[in-house]
Amino acid sequence: MTAAKPARTNVRRSLEARRRQLEADLTHFEAWSMSRLGFGHALVDDGAASFDQATQLTLRQNTERLLAQVTNALARLDAGAYGVCEGCGQAIDTERLQAVIDARLCMGCQRLQERSPLGRITGLKTASIPAPA
Ligand SMILES: [Zn+2]
Repeated sequence: MTAAKPARTNVRRSLEARRRQLEADLTHFEAWSMSRLGFGHALVDDGAASFDQATQLTLRQNTERLLAQVTNALARLDAGAYGVCEGCGQAIDTERLQAVIDARLCMGCQRLQERSPLGRITGLKTASIPAPA
């Protein structure tokens, strides 16, 4: 029996690398905010400064969302559920997992879910994965 899935350790390694990178980015945003809050910026043009702040805030929110996804994915990996569709139990495409790190549904089930007026699949297996702390 040949496994078509990528080795789990590789997935973990890349997720952990991703998490470290995102955490480093967040640290960077923290440092940036602190420097902005400090004195010595009184002469900065207000318009430019607020544009800057809005951009940084957006970037930061994106980073936080990605970090949450990666953390979620690692929790699912620990639970042995990573890369397995919650709708049909089939393996989720590697390409889809690269695009949506913590994807819980395969493309087919995702499309069904989007079409369903209830926004959910009936008979969807209850996830037995503990919520991340
Ligand atoms: Zn599925």
